[in-house]
Amino acid sequence: MRFVSFRERSVPISRYGDSSIPSGGLTTSIVALTTDVRRNGKPIVGYGFSSIGRFAQSGLIRERFAPRLMEAADSDLANVERTNFDPLRAWEVMMRGEKPGGHGERCVAVGTLDMAIWDAAAKIDGLPLYRWLADYLGVSHRTTVPVRAYASGGYLYPRDDTMQLMDEIRCLLDYGYTHVKIKIGSAPLATDIARIESALTLLPSADHLSVDAMNAYDGRESVAAAAALAPYGLWWLEDICDPLDFETLSTVAASYAGPVAAGEALFSVAEAKLLNRYGGLRPKCDILQFDPVHCYGIPGYLRIIDAMREGEWGASAFWPHGGHLFGLHVVSALGLGGCEMNPISFEPFGGLPDGVFPQKGNVKPPDEPGIGFEAKAMLYRRFQELHD
Ligand code: MG
Repeated sequence: MRFVSFRERSVPISRYGDSSIPSGGLTTSIVALTTDVRRNGKPIVGYGFSSIGRFAQSGLIRERFAPRLMEAADSDLANVERTNFDPLRAWEVMMRGEKPGGHGERCVAVGTLDMAIWDAAAKIDGLPLYRWLADYLGVSHRTTVPVRAYASGGYLYPRDDTMQLMDEIRCLLDYGYTHVKIKIGSAPLATDIARIESALTLLPSADHLSVDAMNAYDGRESVAAAAALAPYGLWWLEDICDPLDFETLSTVAASYAGPVAAGEALFSVAEAKLLNRYGGLRPKCDILQFDPVHCYGIPGYLRIIDAMREGEWGASAFWPHGGHLFGLHVVSALGLGGCEMNPISFEPFGGLPDGVFPQKGNVKPPDEPGIGFEAKAMLYRRFQELHD
């Protein structure tokens, strides 16, 4: 029960369906972990990527975390029965010698490899990840299939923004999504309000639209934006200020009646506890968006969930950032509130398997063994290129 080789590559990733539109040079790491387990004459390979929004992590993966997995003894990676990998034990191997604090983006590198480990483990038992993960954690009674989902996108277009935004939302609704999230914060507030009003003309009510300010506003701008947006009654207001500006976040939460969403740019359980204590969020109404990949993978994400649940948060408050199949499996296995989906942005990493669409805003994880990247032809081709 060993990993016999790993591959990693940094690949470009675009916020727009049209990847020729400049997208800030964003990249993600894709990885392949080949195991010594064979099925049908071929080795089982786990695949993973660095979720979206945090750039590739090539150096940390190649120089530090993947070599620890390669050098680990079978006995450090296997489950008690020696029938499969134990992903939590493999995670301990990756974290050997790492000091507390200084999370930086090391957590993203670990989370990328962690995704590939879970993919491999579920494939070894021939199960989709959501079922394998629920069995592994003994939480199958909480598993939810299908799960609620919303479509994410709506980045500011450099040209013909309103027309392109409207086209994008129409497309997401045609796919079968009922709830949509668009970006604000990178244009003047008046422009963003005009975008919101355009988007609302396509939706049945304002509680079908959420907005994500991408942590763009300072304290004064956050309060002004929240006051201007409050009358619209949107589904939620996300990432209003700097991820660690708990003073501003708590000021906004105290005055904004609707749901506030936060947490996608906090990566450790220590930061999550600070958010819970000082962020002023309200467990009964607000939304937590920690990304299971960026938070050191599933083991780190589970610790965050446990910490927040001690702080009176229910499972339904968790709507993890990411917008891809891995996040969907995690939401389903853990019975969380719902799932982000990126059907157009970040192609081919976001969204559902080829030819699969939501049913009235609900989505189902694929039943292929593992995460099911094999059911997304363009994405699977990317992973196959790692072996060339
Ligand atoms: Mg966000």
